[in-house]
Amino acid sequence: MRRAFPEVSDDAFASWSWQVKNRIDDVEGLARVFELTDEEREGFARTRSVFRFGVTPYYAALADPRDPSCPIRRQIVPRPEEATVRIGELADPLGEVPREVVPNLVHRYPDRVLLLSTDRCPVYCRFCTRRRIVGRTERQSTRALLDEAFEYIAEHDEIREVIVSGGDALMLGDNQIDHMLERIRSAPHVDLVRIGTRMPVTCPMRVTPRLISVLSKYKPVYVMTHFNHVKECTAEAEAACAALIDAGVVVYNQTVLLRGINDDVESIAALNRRLVRMRVTPYYLHQCDMAEGIEHFRTPLATGLEIIDGLRGHMSGLAVPQFCVDVPGGLGKVTMLPEWVVAKDGRATTFRTYTGSSARYLDPEDVDSSKRGS
Ligand code: SF4
Repeated sequence: MRRAFPEVSDDAFASWSWQVKNRIDDVEGLARVFELTDEEREGFARTRSVFRFGVTPYYAALADPRDPSCPIRRQIVPRPEEATVRIGELADPLGEVPREVVPNLVHRYPDRVLLLSTDRCPVYCRFCTRRRIVGRTERQSTRALLDEAFEYIAEHDEIREVIVSGGDALMLGDNQIDHMLERIRSAPHVDLVRIGTRMPVTCPMRVTPRLISVLSKYKPVYVMTHFNHVKECTAEAEAACAALIDAGVVVYNQTVLLRGINDDVESIAALNRRLVRMRVTPYYLHQCDMAEGIEHFRTPLATGLEIIDGLRGHMSGLAVPQFCVDVPGGLGKVTMLPEWVVAKDGRATTFRTYTGSSARYLDPEDVDSSKRGS
């Protein structure tokens, strides 16, 4: 895997601090890992001021050096299209700015808040929806910077869950994470903490015994990770997820549906079969947000529905995620399902099954259907 880094010792390559410190952050650095096409070089030139480039040596080494359409390569290498903002695309597609109640804290849903703990990531994904802030300053969040957020959480007893994201929350050091979780969990009304991170995918060596011991103190802790393709499910990634799960951390995955990367039944089925074997629960298949410059990654909504249609019944329901759209404007997630009900007639509902046959279900005769559900 690490053929491009023969001079680096195994110990260094397996250390997350080495990976972050030696992150490849320019075109010349990436060109030393694999030969870039003219189009990829143009992508770098046109997006310099649009969105930061950065990739860990670990993740870069997963890319196919000969194939520009490799699903890993497509996620890390800028393309010229990113410089074009299409009609309808938004800098803040999830409406987070108007709901930022104190610095770095977004209160969008009644009982959940989103803590933007850092703007740094180990890899800057080219489809990132939060590119308006991610990678802008690469500041390390100081304790004081998040103090107001902790105070807001403590003062609002309707908050049951804190989603710690960024950027990538696990870019913070262990002591910072410890302090952050301690402040959050000191609010008695907070039931759980959810941490959004791509570290198990892009820098699995971040899951160290010390990190595990910190997370273990604040259970229940959910880690929401972000595998998009089965190529990302390496032995290292599996070991990182296993270490979290064995320590009692619950690990869920959300995948973003990306054109040319995973937008077919076979890709999503292979990924989710592998995740289930890794004991990671497939949670969401996300429709790509309408963020600026990423239309080339977006698929029609029908693609997501076709994929769910191709999974449901054909494979374990444990491996079938919910297909969801985070609708523009910050109005929340909507989950979408293929149309399985083909007719309704009084008590009878006719379904289309996964095999293509149809079947009728009758509601009970002795229940007034107009009162059902009351
Ligand atoms: S890890 Fe998440 S926040 Fe960071 S660049 Fe990728 S998608 Fe954006």
